[in-house]
Amino acid sequence: MSTRPGTEGADDAAGVAPWGSEQLVLCHDEETGLRAAIAVDDTTLGPALGGVRYKAYPSSAAAITEAQRLAAAMTRKNAAAGLPYGGGKSVILNTGPVADRTAFMRAFGRFVARLGGAYVPGVDMGTTTDDLATMARAGAGITSGEDPSPATAAGVFEALRAAVRVVDGRDDLTGVRVLVQGAGHVGAALARDVARAGGTVLLSDVDAARAADVAGALGGQVVAPDAVLDADVDVFAPCAIARVIDATTVERLRCRIVAGAANDTLAFPAVADRLVERGITYVPDFVANAGGVIHMHGVRMGWDATHLRTELALIGDRIAGVLTTARETGVTPLAAAEALAAERIAAARAERAQAPSVVARAA
Ligand code: NAD
Repeated sequence: MSTRPGTEGADDAAGVAPWGSEQLVLCHDEETGLRAAIAVDDTTLGPALGGVRYKAYPSSAAAITEAQRLAAAMTRKNAAAGLPYGGGKSVILNTGPVADRTAFMRAFGRFVARLGGAYVPGVDMGTTTDDLATMARAGAGITSGEDPSPATAAGVFEALRAAVRVVDGRDDLTGVRVLVQGAGHVGAALARDVARAGGTVLLSDVDAARAADVAGALGGQVVAPDAVLDADVDVFAPCAIARVIDATTVERLRCRIVAGAANDTLAFPAVADRLVERGITYVPDFVANAGGVIHMHGVRMGWDATHLRTELALIGDRIAGVLTTARETGVTPLAAAEALAAERIAAARAERAQAPSVVARAA
């Protein structure tokens, strides 16, 4: 996180400063045409864990900024989840068709391997579990070759339920109207969980057929993508794109709770204040959607399904704690969640500062 000296002057729009990351590596492989940026944001708590995004960017600078911004978000996510990882993220620039995808991903894996374990990659937008396996064969210590989406959805469901508990004082979802934006890997699974718990599901997707399929199977209703923000629902669950709630859209919302999987749901931090003023409870995205990284850690640790379920359920407790702290101390849930992450990192730094050095121990 950009709390260390020398990170002043962060670009507010992007939320990062040029020197905000611990380490920033630009990679170029002549043979395959690979161009990538790896941002290691913070390793106080452990190796920097974060996905590999493969997409087109308007410029190299935009790609690098995105890697740094997303890496900082991973630091917060991993810290708030109590995981022994720092935050990292990498972006591979999609500059057109690739002749040999395996060679391309292998080249990237070699760059990751050079970092000696400081960065641990996972799947993200545009990359597949096959790509990760290729990187691993090239020496990159990957998180896991499994799809984290089911665990992410399970964690968001726990977060959503906890928010309803804190806001409404009730444990069940019977009759609670939940609008899921995005019927993809996470959104569809979340919608299923909500329906199973007795909630009323509304679904929206730019892929109308996908929304209709999922809604049809659950007895849910389809909402047109441009009508999502005005929908009269209890919970709005953004599970599609980033920065859905900005200075304009925040005024349109008619829900009481926002709880979803999408990263960066708020376009900028001050929107969190406006949500409080409007009486809308915001469940911080980076706490709610940590199920995927918890799952990755579980695979590395050899957890069984029961252990994983227990850890995912803790997301609900964490959200309840964040919302209660926010209410009692008069801060936004976003501020309370950021404080939780910052405290963990500060405690680890303090512990490290107090530990006797190798030289002192030897003396
Ligand atoms: P996905 O690509 O499987 O699904 C996204 C869905 O959103 C697609 O069906 C797409 O058609 C739809 N969509 C895109 N733009 C839309 C719009 N404007 N309105 C409505 N629908 C739209 O992605 P996913 O893996 O389900 O992830 C969903 C979100 O959760 C993403 O923002 C992702 O960054 C975030 N997230 C995912 C994970 C994970 O484990 N998959 C973990 C953390 C965060």
